[in-house]
Amino acid sequence: MCEDLENVHIGLDDIDTGSQGCTTHLTFRVLRSIINQIPQAVFSDYPVLIRLNPTIPFKTRGNAALSFAVKLREREAQSLREIVLKEVTSYIADVRGAGAEPGVALLYGEVPEALGRLYVKALSDYVHRDYVLGVIKTLEGSLEVPLGYSRGLIGALAAMGASKHLRECTYELLSYRAGRAGGEHSVERCVDGESVKVMDESLRSYTFLNYDYESGELLITPSGPNPVLLGLRGEDPEALVRAFNMLRVCESYEGWVIYKTNQAVNAHHVERCLECFKPYQTGCVRARVVGKPLVLPGGDVLVKLGDRDSEARLWAVFFKETGLNKVAGRLMTGDLITVCGGGKYWEGRGVVVHSDFLEVLELASETYVNPKCPVCGHRMKSSGRSKGWKCPKCGFKSTSLSKEVVKLARDLERRAYRPRDIAVKHLVMPESRVGRVSDCSKPLISKWIYFNSSPLPSQAPRERLPPTQASP
Ligand SMILES: [Zn+2]
Repeated sequence: MCEDLENVHIGLDDIDTGSQGCTTHLTFRVLRSIINQIPQAVFSDYPVLIRLNPTIPFKTRGNAALSFAVKLREREAQSLREIVLKEVTSYIADVRGAGAEPGVALLYGEVPEALGRLYVKALSDYVHRDYVLGVIKTLEGSLEVPLGYSRGLIGALAAMGASKHLRECTYELLSYRAGRAGGEHSVERCVDGESVKVMDESLRSYTFLNYDYESGELLITPSGPNPVLLGLRGEDPEALVRAFNMLRVCESYEGWVIYKTNQAVNAHHVERCLECFKPYQTGCVRARVVGKPLVLPGGDVLVKLGDRDSEARLWAVFFKETGLNKVAGRLMTGDLITVCGGGKYWEGRGVVVHSDFLEVLELASETYVNPKCPVCGHRMKSSGRSKGWKCPKCGFKSTSLSKEVVKLARDLERRAYRPRDIAVKHLVMPESRVGRVSDCSKPLISKWIYFNSSPLPSQAPRERLPPTQASP
């Protein structure tokens, strides 16, 4: 009893390939094996599921990275290591496909600040290999990277860093379908839609993005043929378990686990300036609208941004599926807005922010138009800089007339605008979460993970056995 427990952090990333497998599913299996094989192992917090920079071109589906911490006796550390590696290797062998560069990291002791900074960078910027190698160098002696330096290692380390660095959190209960990770899963999930609506009506204030009433689509089930059965997102782990038990699931599943996440809190919205926003960075910029918004074929809207003190320009695009295009289309020169999203490079335009948030701070209320011809009433044309005006109709010239001030009728409110639920990506805060508490310190509940010992279709979810794992 007096023996000191060792704290081991494990980070995982980039296990899934194309449509097969999922790093969160592997994490579930690793946790299950640890709990079964080292029953004395102590878990004192939720495993962490983070979403990283969505603008990075080489990323996994969903761009998730995972980590968790476990306390155990020093002599158990070796079996822990073996369990992790065995699960990882057999999972990779099962889903074997091109593209994955699995990252596995084990850290002994406390999570250093350097990993917290790596997390923020991996969330909002491009992480160069040299940067990661530099961080790894500082961790010599306490870090182990059994699969070597792969692309996935960045996420694995960032997820560890996040475990100490998260300021705002939500929680997600992820449930996994029975069968081989690399097996053929159908695209359809057998989850009764009516039960999702009933759950949503009763637990809407503790959960979010369950059901899209506009399109009638379930938002809890993913769309690809991967092992994830469903994901329930919310602020309260207890409520997620209640929510899951209200669903009628008619296909067999392996179990579920609750993660602490950086989802739905706009964690990627770091402050940036107009001239420093680079491709592959995420963030927010405050700027003036320059010129009339451009409506692209298909309905997406491009807005040019600038400020009064510099010549710098930046573009922002508002995609049709987000619904933000309608707001953006009503912007006018001089409006002051905040735009958030991820920067991408567009041929011929430069950096374009793919927007997931728009706040209208100031609306231009006046504009200047050319004077009217005092002779015929036609709008006059400028004869050139400080050369006065000429009427294109009657030829009248004047150097004394000046531009007229016109009050603008604005069909736009000064407020924040967010994407429609159906278009909300992992990191983005949906409208329904605005004003909610994003508490990262919710205590670990006893039923934070559940393994289905006989994964048969559950017809009576309310009679389901309690979870097998009770953490101390
Ligand atoms: Zn005239």
